[in-house]
Amino acid sequence: MQELIAKRRRLLNELMKCSNFVRGSINSVCAKCNRSHCICEVQTSKRVYRLTYKNSEQKTRIVYIPEAKMPKIRKMIANYSKARKITEQIIETNIQIFKKENRKS
Ligand SMILES: [Zn+2]
Repeated sequence: MQELIAKRRRLLNELMKCSNFVRGSINSVCAKCNRSHCICEVQTSKRVYRLTYKNSEQKTRIVYIPEAKMPKIRKMIANYSKARKITEQIIETNIQIFKKENRKS
């Protein structure tokens, strides 16, 4: 039992480490016409990057990402998938704790 509680504490610490997370996907559009498939007469190679995500009301939102911040936002997206995996492990641990508690009473 103590082991399980220690395990949960460990998982929560790991979750803290990746708490700076966002959910969404990164895509790029033409800097001039704002489309993923450029329709400009004179096409440039200039692209802008953006994060598309759904807010709590399931509405699609777009945030433009300065190129210098791309590594940071990629890390934040990676943190989200880590956080999800850790959350799954916490759930599993909590189930085990719950079962043990039931056996005792
Ligand atoms: Zn364009």
